[in-house]
Amino acid sequence: MTTPQIGASRYSAATLHFGAFGTSRQTHFEVGAPAGNHKINQAITFFRQVLFSWTAKTESSRAFGRGGRLQLPPDFFELDRSNMQRSLVAKIKRVIPEPVIGKVKKWRTMYNVVREFGGRHPRECPICDYKGLFFAYGVPLQFDSCCPRCRSIGRHRQHHLLVQVNPQWIDDKVVLHFAPEPCFVKEYEKRARRYLRADYDPAPGEVQVDAQNMVFPDGSIDTIICHNVIEHVPSDRRALAEMFRVLKPGGVALITAPVIEAWANTYENPRISTFRDRDLHFNQWDHFRLYGQDFRDRLREPGFELSLDVATEPDVSRYGLDRGETIFVARRPSEAAG
Ligand SMILES: [Zn+2]
Repeated sequence: MTTPQIGASRYSAATLHFGAFGTSRQTHFEVGAPAGNHKINQAITFFRQVLFSWTAKTESSRAFGRGGRLQLPPDFFELDRSNMQRSLVAKIKRVIPEPVIGKVKKWRTMYNVVREFGGRHPRECPICDYKGLFFAYGVPLQFDSCCPRCRSIGRHRQHHLLVQVNPQWIDDKVVLHFAPEPCFVKEYEKRARRYLRADYDPAPGEVQVDAQNMVFPDGSIDTIICHNVIEHVPSDRRALAEMFRVLKPGGVALITAPVIEAWANTYENPRISTFRDRDLHFNQWDHFRLYGQDFRDRLREPGFELSLDVATEPDVSRYGLDRGETIFVARRPSEAAG
């Protein structure tokens, strides 16, 4: 007998491969499963429980009359059912060739995507007070993301929650909002002293602004909102320096961007210039980079002080936020402090 080895090829005579398909050429170990004839034991346990439940019901009917019911905990059978299902699936997998299982997995994934596209768990939208299922949205597809009423996605709801505890950033202030999300426009127009909607390719009601070379005078803006825009700008360093320049001392820029937190360094490559290649490398045809942890350093370069708002529980589950999504609050130091 060959000794099972972790890391050995899955096609060797006997391979210990956790989670592998259990073909006849593999020794299949299930972590946490009891040794021996555990499937038979599970089957016996399951039927004993059914029998017990039926007996208990009959007994309680006798004791409490017709309709009398013994209250079993709702998860009474769950464990055994799931174990039964798992062992059945494992058994089926052993007799079906691997390529067929691959195809089944593909179709099952597609089925799950279609089935869950309209929402998996009911959530709450703090922006429009909608309660219910959210659509899937984004690349890669994010489930429970888009509010069907106000079209907000996770980072917008996170932004809203952050502004709720910092209303001074909006109320009676000069607010510059890059690529403004429609779910905020009406409210901020009412609340801000001056609400400037800006875009490089402006829509009606927006002003044309190149983030790398802004038309606004020094220290003229109280708050900048710039969600997932900076990765579209060819020179993000120039854009950040411009944000610092136009902000009043003490003003803040609320910035989000795609950050791969496991990467130390930002991934940029000037040779990747076609739409197709940018989509492949940077996840969207008009992205210039994907940031790493050094995004913080870039934000600090012009002189910003940073604080972070990270999406955590219970807000993630309740409001459908993106786990770990970070809003970088970049503050231009006030002159007294600076
Ligand atoms: Zn909403």
